[in-house]
Amino acid sequence: MIEILNRTEVARARETGALVGHVLQTLRERSAVGTNLLEIDEWAREMIVEGGAESCYVDYAPSFGRGPFGHYICTSVNDAVLHGLPHDYALADGDLVSLDFAITKDGVAADSAISFVVGEPAPPESAAMIDATRRALSAGIAAAGPGARVGDVSAAIGAVLTEAGYPINTDFGGHGIGSTMHQDPHVANNGRAGRGYRLRPGLLLALEPWVMADTAELVTDADGWTLRSATGCRTAHSEHTVAITDDGAEILTLPGRSQS
Ligand code: MG
Ligand code: MG
Repeated sequence: MIEILNRTEVARARETGALVGHVLQTLRERSAVGTNLLEIDEWAREMIVEGGAESCYVDYAPSFGRGPFGHYICTSVNDAVLHGLPHDYALADGDLVSLDFAITKDGVAADSAISFVVGEPAPPESAAMIDATRRALSAGIAAAGPGARVGDVSAAIGAVLTEAGYPINTDFGGHGIGSTMHQDPHVANNGRAGRGYRLRPGLLLALEPWVMADTAELVTDADGWTLRSATGCRTAHSEHTVAITDDGAEILTLPGRSQS
Protein backbone atom coordinates (compact mmCIF):
# COMPACT_ATOMS: atom_id res chain seq x y z
CA MET A 1 0.00 0.00 0.00
CA ILE A 2 1.16 3.53 -0.80
CA GLU A 3 -0.14 6.29 1.49
CA ILE A 4 -0.38 9.93 0.47
CA LEU A 5 -0.58 12.18 3.53
CA ASN A 6 -2.59 15.40 3.72
CA ARG A 7 -1.08 18.65 5.05
CA THR A 8 -2.19 17.98 8.62
CA GLU A 9 -0.62 14.55 8.55
CA VAL A 10 2.62 15.87 7.04
CA ALA A 11 2.71 18.46 9.84
CA ARG A 12 2.43 15.61 12.35
CA ALA A 13 5.19 13.76 10.51
CA ARG A 14 7.43 16.80 11.06
CA GLU A 15 6.84 16.47 14.80
CA THR A 16 7.58 12.75 14.78
CA GLY A 17 10.65 13.28 12.64
CA ALA A 18 11.97 16.02 14.91
CA LEU A 19 11.71 13.69 17.88
CA VAL A 20 13.52 10.91 16.00
CA GLY A 21 16.32 13.30 15.08
CA HIS A 22 16.57 14.57 18.65
CA VAL A 23 16.74 11.04 20.10
CA LEU A 24 19.44 9.89 17.69
CA GLN A 25 21.54 13.00 18.29
CA THR A 26 21.22 12.53 22.05
CA LEU A 27 22.14 8.85 21.85
CA ARG A 28 25.15 9.64 19.71
CA GLU A 29 26.34 12.26 22.22
CA ARG A 30 25.95 9.81 25.11
CA SER A 31 27.62 6.86 23.37
CA ALA A 32 31.24 6.49 24.46
CA VAL A 33 33.81 3.83 25.14
CA GLY A 34 32.22 1.59 27.78
CA THR A 35 28.59 2.43 26.95
CA ASN A 36 26.52 -0.75 26.92
CA LEU A 37 24.11 -1.39 24.05
CA LEU A 38 21.41 -2.16 26.62
CA GLU A 39 21.94 1.32 28.13
CA ILE A 40 21.37 2.86 24.70
CA ASP A 41 18.17 0.80 24.38
CA GLU A 42 16.97 1.99 27.79
CA TRP A 43 17.74 5.65 26.96
CA ALA A 44 15.76 5.24 23.74
CA ARG A 45 12.82 3.79 25.70
CA GLU A 46 12.91 6.68 28.18
CA MET A 47 12.91 9.30 25.42
CA ILE A 48 10.02 7.59 23.63
CA VAL A 49 7.96 7.78 26.83
CA GLU A 50 9.00 11.41 27.48
CA GLY A 51 8.10 12.35 23.92
CA GLY A 52 4.65 10.77 24.06
CA ALA A 53 5.54 8.42 21.20
CA GLU A 54 5.31 4.69 20.56
CA SER A 55 8.08 2.36 19.43
CA CYS A 56 7.76 0.81 15.98
CA TYR A 57 10.18 -1.91 17.07
CA VAL A 58 9.27 -3.38 20.41
CA ASP A 59 6.39 -5.53 19.15
CA TYR A 60 7.69 -5.81 15.59
CA ALA A 61 7.47 -9.37 14.28
CA PRO A 62 7.96 -9.48 10.49
CA SER A 63 8.49 -12.57 8.36
CA PHE A 64 12.26 -12.17 8.79
CA GLY A 65 13.68 -12.05 12.29
CA ARG A 66 12.87 -14.04 15.40
CA GLY A 67 10.12 -11.73 16.56
CA PRO A 68 8.88 -9.87 18.41
CA PHE A 69 11.98 -7.65 18.47
CA GLY A 70 11.52 -6.68 22.13
CA HIS A 71 13.76 -3.59 22.07
CA TYR A 72 13.43 0.12 21.22
CA ILE A 73 16.36 0.71 18.86
CA CYS A 74 18.59 -1.27 16.52
CA THR A 75 22.23 -1.24 17.60
CA SER A 76 24.58 -2.65 14.96
CA VAL A 77 28.32 -2.71 15.69
CA ASN A 78 31.19 -3.16 13.20
CA ASP A 79 30.26 -6.12 10.94
CA ALA A 80 26.60 -5.87 12.04
CA VAL A 81 24.69 -3.56 9.71
CA LEU A 82 20.91 -3.97 9.98
CA HIS A 83 18.40 -4.96 12.67
CA GLY A 84 21.11 -5.17 15.33
CA LEU A 85 19.52 -6.62 18.47
CA PRO A 86 20.65 -4.74 21.60
CA HIS A 87 22.56 -7.06 23.91
CA ASP A 88 25.04 -6.95 26.79
CA TYR A 89 28.04 -5.41 25.02
CA ALA A 90 30.13 -2.43 26.10
CA LEU A 91 31.38 -0.27 23.22
CA ALA A 92 35.15 -0.37 22.67
CA ASP A 93 37.47 2.33 21.33
CA GLY A 94 37.17 2.43 17.55
CA ASP A 95 33.87 0.54 17.30
CA LEU A 96 31.69 1.60 14.36
CA VAL A 97 28.12 1.91 15.64
CA SER A 98 24.93 2.16 13.60
CA LEU A 99 21.75 3.22 15.41
CA ASP A 100 18.43 2.79 13.61
CA PHE A 101 15.34 4.23 15.29
CA ALA A 102 11.66 4.47 14.33
CA ILE A 103 8.66 5.67 16.29
CA THR A 104 5.04 6.61 15.78
CA LYS A 105 3.59 9.77 17.31
CA ASP A 106 0.05 11.07 16.77
CA GLY A 107 -0.48 8.35 14.20
CA VAL A 108 2.51 9.11 11.96
CA ALA A 109 5.82 7.21 11.87
CA ALA A 110 9.37 8.40 11.19
CA ASP A 111 12.56 6.37 10.76
CA SER A 112 16.22 7.40 10.72
CA ALA A 113 19.65 5.83 11.14
CA ILE A 114 23.16 7.13 11.82
CA SER A 115 26.61 5.57 11.89
CA PHE A 116 29.58 6.86 13.88
CA VAL A 117 32.84 5.69 15.40
CA VAL A 118 33.30 5.63 19.17
CA GLY A 119 36.58 7.11 20.39
CA GLU A 120 39.27 8.96 18.45
CA PRO A 121 40.37 9.01 15.77
CA ALA A 122 38.05 7.14 13.43
CA PRO A 123 39.88 4.67 11.17
CA PRO A 124 40.01 6.30 7.70
CA GLU A 125 38.29 3.35 6.01
CA SER A 126 35.40 3.56 8.46
CA ALA A 127 35.08 7.33 8.11
CA ALA A 128 35.07 7.00 4.32
CA MET A 129 32.38 4.33 4.39
CA ILE A 130 30.13 6.38 6.67
CA ASP A 131 30.71 9.42 4.46
CA ALA A 132 29.74 7.45 1.35
CA THR A 133 26.38 6.45 2.85
CA ARG A 134 25.72 10.08 3.85
CA ARG A 135 26.57 11.37 0.38
CA ALA A 136 24.41 8.65 -1.19
CA LEU A 137 21.56 9.69 1.09
CA SER A 138 21.96 13.32 0.05
CA ALA A 139 21.96 12.32 -3.62
CA GLY A 140 18.82 10.24 -3.12
CA ILE A 141 17.06 13.11 -1.37
CA ALA A 142 18.08 15.53 -4.12
CA ALA A 143 16.59 13.16 -6.71
CA ALA A 144 13.30 12.70 -4.81
CA GLY A 145 11.33 15.66 -6.11
CA PRO A 146 7.69 15.56 -7.19
CA GLY A 147 7.35 13.83 -10.54
CA ALA A 148 10.55 11.87 -10.17
CA ARG A 149 10.33 8.10 -10.19
CA VAL A 150 11.51 5.68 -7.52
CA GLY A 151 14.13 4.44 -9.99
CA ASP A 152 15.62 7.94 -10.18
CA VAL A 153 16.16 7.90 -6.41
CA SER A 154 17.60 4.38 -6.46
CA ALA A 155 19.92 5.23 -9.34
CA ALA A 156 21.18 8.38 -7.58
CA ILE A 157 21.95 6.45 -4.40
CA GLY A 158 23.55 3.58 -6.29
CA ALA A 159 25.75 5.88 -8.36
CA VAL A 160 27.38 7.36 -5.25
CA LEU A 161 27.92 3.98 -3.59
CA THR A 162 29.31 2.47 -6.77
CA GLU A 163 31.61 5.43 -7.39
CA ALA A 164 32.88 5.03 -3.83
CA GLY A 165 33.70 1.40 -4.58
CA TYR A 166 31.17 -0.48 -2.48
CA PRO A 167 29.16 -3.54 -3.56
CA ILE A 168 25.41 -2.95 -3.20
CA ASN A 169 22.84 -5.27 -1.66
CA THR A 170 19.33 -4.49 -2.95
CA ASP A 171 17.41 -6.90 -0.71
CA PHE A 172 16.95 -4.32 2.05
CA GLY A 173 16.56 -0.63 1.31
CA GLY A 174 14.32 2.39 1.60
CA HIS A 175 10.56 2.33 1.82
CA GLY A 176 7.39 4.31 2.00
CA ILE A 177 6.34 5.30 5.51
CA GLY A 178 3.23 6.88 6.98
CA SER A 179 0.76 5.48 9.51
CA THR A 180 3.10 2.50 9.81
CA MET A 181 6.88 2.12 9.47
CA HIS A 182 7.22 -0.07 6.39
CA GLN A 183 5.08 0.60 3.34
CA ASP A 184 5.38 0.57 -0.43
CA PRO A 185 7.16 1.62 -2.50
CA HIS A 186 10.42 -0.22 -1.88
CA VAL A 187 13.34 2.07 -2.73
CA ALA A 188 16.33 -0.15 -3.51
CA ASN A 189 19.80 1.31 -3.07
CA ASN A 190 20.49 0.85 -6.77
CA GLY A 191 18.27 0.83 -9.82
CA ARG A 192 17.42 2.28 -13.19
CA ALA A 193 16.40 5.88 -13.61
CA GLY A 194 13.03 6.53 -15.20
CA ARG A 195 11.45 3.37 -13.80
CA GLY A 196 8.95 2.75 -11.05
CA TYR A 197 6.33 4.65 -9.09
CA ARG A 198 6.10 8.38 -9.72
CA LEU A 199 6.62 10.44 -6.55
CA ARG A 200 4.02 12.99 -5.55
CA PRO A 201 3.48 15.51 -2.76
CA GLY A 202 2.31 13.93 0.48
CA LEU A 203 4.33 10.74 0.01
CA LEU A 204 6.80 10.02 2.80
CA LEU A 205 9.90 7.99 2.06
CA ALA A 206 12.55 6.58 4.36
CA LEU A 207 15.74 6.52 2.29
CA GLU A 208 18.53 4.42 3.73
CA PRO A 209 21.79 3.69 1.91
CA TRP A 210 23.89 1.10 3.74
CA VAL A 211 27.05 -0.70 2.67
CA MET A 212 29.52 -3.36 3.67
CA ALA A 213 33.16 -2.70 2.86
CA ASP A 214 33.87 -5.69 0.64
CA THR A 215 30.74 -7.78 0.11
CA ALA A 216 27.04 -7.57 -0.76
CA GLU A 217 26.24 -10.76 1.14
CA LEU A 218 24.54 -10.77 4.53
CA VAL A 219 24.44 -13.48 7.17
CA THR A 220 21.97 -13.66 10.06
CA ASP A 221 23.38 -13.76 13.57
CA ALA A 222 22.45 -16.57 15.95
CA ASP A 223 20.24 -14.03 17.76
CA GLY A 224 17.78 -14.38 14.86
CA TRP A 225 17.73 -10.65 14.06
CA THR A 226 21.11 -9.04 13.55
CA LEU A 227 22.33 -9.01 9.94
CA ARG A 228 26.11 -9.05 9.52
CA SER A 229 28.48 -8.86 6.59
CA ALA A 230 29.30 -12.34 5.31
CA THR A 231 33.02 -11.56 5.35
CA GLY A 232 33.14 -9.91 8.77
CA CYS A 233 34.02 -6.55 7.24
CA ARG A 234 32.77 -3.25 8.66
CA THR A 235 29.53 -1.64 7.54
CA ALA A 236 27.70 1.72 7.62
CA HIS A 237 24.13 3.01 7.33
CA SER A 238 22.51 6.45 6.95
CA GLU A 239 18.76 7.06 6.85
CA HIS A 240 16.35 9.96 6.84
CA THR A 241 12.59 10.16 6.45
CA VAL A 242 11.62 12.77 3.85
CA ALA A 243 8.30 14.23 2.74
CA ILE A 244 7.77 14.83 -0.96
CA THR A 245 6.50 18.41 -1.30
CA ASP A 246 5.69 20.68 -4.25
CA ASP A 247 9.28 21.92 -4.11
CA GLY A 248 11.32 18.77 -3.52
CA ALA A 249 12.02 16.40 -0.66
CA GLU A 250 11.91 17.87 2.85
CA ILE A 251 14.05 16.06 5.44
CA LEU A 252 11.92 15.38 8.52
CA THR A 253 14.43 13.64 10.80
CA LEU A 254 17.12 16.29 11.23
CA PRO A 255 18.28 16.72 14.83
CA GLY A 256 18.16 20.50 14.70
CA ARG A 257 14.45 20.87 14.13
CA SER A 258 12.41 22.60 16.82
CA GLN A 259 10.72 20.46 19.44
CA SER A 260 7.57 22.61 19.50
MG1 MG B 1 15.43 2.63 9.94
MG1 MG C 1 13.84 2.30 7.31
